[in-house]
Amino acid sequence: MKSTLDVLNAFETIRRAQRAGRYAPHKPLLILLALGRVQRGEPRLVEYAAIDEALKLLLAEFGPSSASSSRHYPFWHLATDSNGALWDLSGPREILSRPPAATPTLGELRSQHVKGGFAIQVDDALRHSPGLLEAVASRALDAYFPATLHDDIATAVGLDLSAPPAVQEVTQGADSFSTSARRKRDPGFRDRVLLAYEYRCCVCGFDLRIGHLPAGLEAAHIQWHNVGGPDIEPNGLSLCALHHKLFDLGVFTVEPAEHRVVFSRHAISGAPDGEGILQFHGRPLRLPQQADLNPGAEFLAWNFGNVFKKPSRQVSPPSLAKPPAAR
Ligand SMILES: [Zn+2]
Repeated sequence: MKSTLDVLNAFETIRRAQRAGRYAPHKPLLILLALGRVQRGEPRLVEYAAIDEALKLLLAEFGPSSASSSRHYPFWHLATDSNGALWDLSGPREILSRPPAATPTLGELRSQHVKGGFAIQVDDALRHSPGLLEAVASRALDAYFPATLHDDIATAVGLDLSAPPAVQEVTQGADSFSTSARRKRDPGFRDRVLLAYEYRCCVCGFDLRIGHLPAGLEAAHIQWHNVGGPDIEPNGLSLCALHHKLFDLGVFTVEPAEHRVVFSRHAISGAPDGEGILQFHGRPLRLPQQADLNPGAEFLAWNFGNVFKKPSRQVSPPSLAKPPAAR
């Protein structure tokens, strides 16, 4: 593997292996973490133990519930991706000689000082081809995560993507790569979703306009666009910027029967009852003006299964909801 295109294609092979609709952020988060190390000029190989805590925190924040228990899998399995061209392991022979499916335990990786990192030629290309590292990182973010989370993830893995990636020369002649890596977005999606919800956040009712233009209001995909979520109203929610971010982080979801907003039990707020973000827990969504545009059950099921940080807080019937506490 020598050319920058080979490197891009090696990463692309991993993306293709992911089945549509099934979402696992483990590999992309490890890759992004490793890209951050390369960008900072750190050594090619790193002991698993040295990045275990970082992986745990990344998956707790950007992964679905309990994702962090399998956080060590990609460190092992990346070595067999792209025919072994992408990721190297080093460590005791009794561990490395195991069949690929015999994943070592987290404790074994730590105690046996197993090291991993990009293969030599990949590492070399990432360090010396201008713009390549940034292009790989941007593609990983685009392919796996909604745009609301890109900056947060880049910051969390210590990647500086502020310099515009010089991908033009890297990807010239690689049209098939560019188009296969990104599904086209329907530019009308936002307008149709905001109109369906009458230009207000369907959680909190936020509806600011600057002149006649809505401000701070966004169309969220319930099933993320990059994992096959379609650009149709039943897969959209009109959300203010804050609720969009929290929705993509899995802080709340929408239950399909009565379309009530349900917050995660992991969401903690110090605000008094009846104030702050948790006041919307258990409340019905402000639904679209037409019932046939209501959130689709299959998309809500995907969101609940792949993004929402389970378990949910208990939802009591509205009539039994506690009155705001006097303080
Ligand atoms: Zn809102």
